Amino acid sequence: MVAGSNLLKYSQAICESKAFSYFCKDVRGKRFSHACLFVTPDTAIKDSLIKLVCAEIFCDNSPACLSCPDCRRVINRSHPDIHYFPASGAKITVGDIDALVSEINIMSYSGDERIFVIDCAETMQPASQNKLLKTLEDAPENSVIMLFASTDAGLLPTVKSRVKTFWLAPFTAEQIGRELPPSAPLGVAAMARGSITAAKKALSDPDYARMEAQIFGMLPNLSGSRDIPRFAAEVFAYSQKLDEYLKLLASFLTDILYFKARGGEFVLNKSRISDIIKAEAQFSVSALILINDYIVHCLERLTYYGNAQAVVDGLLLYIAEVKNKCR
Ligand SMILES: [Zn+2]
Repeated sequence: MVAGSNLLKYSQAICESKAFSYFCKDVRGKRFSHACLFVTPDTAIKDSLIKLVCAEIFCDNSPACLSCPDCRRVINRSHPDIHYFPASGAKITVGDIDALVSEINIMSYSGDERIFVIDCAETMQPASQNKLLKTLEDAPENSVIMLFASTDAGLLPTVKSRVKTFWLAPFTAEQIGRELPPSAPLGVAAMARGSITAAKKALSDPDYARMEAQIFGMLPNLSGSRDIPRFAAEVFAYSQKLDEYLKLLASFLTDILYFKARGGEFVLNKSRISDIIKAEAQFSVSALILINDYIVHCLERLTYYGNAQAVVDGLLLYIAEVKNKCR
């Protein structure tokens, strides 16, 4: 457990990440780059990530204690030596970069390190990025520029080559489960495939429980082509979130596989154990593996061709066939 981790949401998961520990190592060794980029598509954790990065720089302890006056100011966003951009809204404007460039040349409040946080860095237009380049290259001593982005796709190669990049890898189902309320079904953590943001979104979605019930109603009863129209209509009710439905289905199939291979102890979604046992009796290990591979193929088809009805029909037919063939 990280010191003070109860003071900041998601801090335990972030501190356990390789990206963050490499950064801390750099800070401890006083050799951290004065221009860094943190990339995570997991937007729910970004606020805490920014605070942990700043606290690590200002706190005398390592890992940051999150309770000393400096850490408290970082957490409350009231530290006089941290400058946040965008000044308002969720997009970096040319005006933000102009303000940053002029502020960075003003003397620091305490003479200590100053941090310039650029959040939503992926929203910077090329003109803003070009303006930032010179400052990234030779920022005044004691000034640190920290960029945070959900993707680096829109960043110019010239910007990327001037920052040290830290990629936050997907979190494990266990780490995600820890960040959810105790009442949350563990299947949510598995379905979220590494993203705390996706898990939170699923939890607040009333369709999640309905999809779960539909899947466990369908798996034991989908036996042949005559069953397909009925179940296809049920699945198609979620055509707007078919990718989430497919990921949820894959997470339950994985759970059934865990149950077959290792018994109930390793099942993530323990609240569904009786449904898992019911489905387990009807699927062989090879059928479960084949269907999960097919779901990956379905997700690709949805991305590139987009015919949801054809994807659903194809998937149900495949499940029925493989279920019978691999018996
Ligand atoms: Zn501290």
